[in-house]
Amino acid sequence: MSAEASAEDIQAVVSTVENAGGSAFVSRGVARTIVGLVGDIELFLNLNLATLRGVAEVIRISAPYKLVSRANHPGTSTVTVGGVPIGPDTFTLIAGPCAVETLEQTLEAAAMAKNAGAKILRGGAYKPRTSPYAFQGLGPLGLEILAEARAATGLPVVTEVVDPADVPLVAEYADMLQIGTRNAQNFGLLQAVGAAGKPVLLKRGLTATYEEWLMSAEYIAQSGTLDIVLCERGIRSFEPSIRNMLDISAVPMAHALSHLPIIVDPSHAAGRRDLVVPLARAGMGVGADGVIVDVHPHPEQALCDGPQALFGADLDELADAVRQHPRNIR
Ligand code: PEP
Ligand code: MN
Repeated sequence: MSAEASAEDIQAVVSTVENAGGSAFVSRGVARTIVGLVGDIELFLNLNLATLRGVAEVIRISAPYKLVSRANHPGTSTVTVGGVPIGPDTFTLIAGPCAVETLEQTLEAAAMAKNAGAKILRGGAYKPRTSPYAFQGLGPLGLEILAEARAATGLPVVTEVVDPADVPLVAEYADMLQIGTRNAQNFGLLQAVGAAGKPVLLKRGLTATYEEWLMSAEYIAQSGTLDIVLCERGIRSFEPSIRNMLDISAVPMAHALSHLPIIVDPSHAAGRRDLVVPLARAGMGVGADGVIVDVHPHPEQALCDGPQALFGADLDELADAVRQHPRNIR
């Protein structure tokens, strides 16, 4: 309550809450009085308490997400993607081309991923490009190519979907549906993937707070699946020499707030190859449950994100680090 609130103002708040079926506890301090509410928070939100006379501020203490909250499920969940676990007992490598460009390029990249110890193949058939003039992906043909790469390598496939109308088709081909950073608050799309019957890889929006990110996960969970893997892929920062800033704190914070597993995407965070392996190691250091990286057989010819694609020695170094991860040598 504000410092000027009268005893009647305070009583009016208490009565409003009690009439709605809740309890209100009044705590009188020297400078101001606090009214603590216990009961159904959604009900309280409908009471418009902030509009009552003398109310200075309404502060929500409990988290607004429920299904994805750690309180809902102690410990980290394991999400299984085409038989491959992502969770607290493994450190999972996901790798593949940023975009599916041709059958040959995708098969080569998939073989590189598999040789590096990847357990899941990534690759975009629908690309959410910032510019409408940039390569937009092969669409349905890209999905066919991914299915061939899966058949050739045995690796399950994660691929992005950008339009609710495409969800049924993408879900027919993919083992896991990816929500990109640009669509992380496209609520209709989140509901559509949540109802599609496949696990979901949810990137963090590029300016999303942890709460906003987990609310996006809550949309998916509420629509039908708790098989959600969070992915920290870098946030907007003021530094122009890197594409985005990998938020290392996001990993332990996500683990503290949610039971969902979390992986990092150092490729889309850095935007440059030389930082990818160091950032992947940082992800391991803070307890990530896996890493997703771009690989390309000929990065100089890539139609999308060539500068960050791993190949050769960098990929070998990452492969070694993943193999030696304590969770993987147990
Ligand atoms: C991607 O993984 O291909 C991608 C576009 O990532 P992001 O949505 O994080 O930019
Ligand atoms: Mn990319």
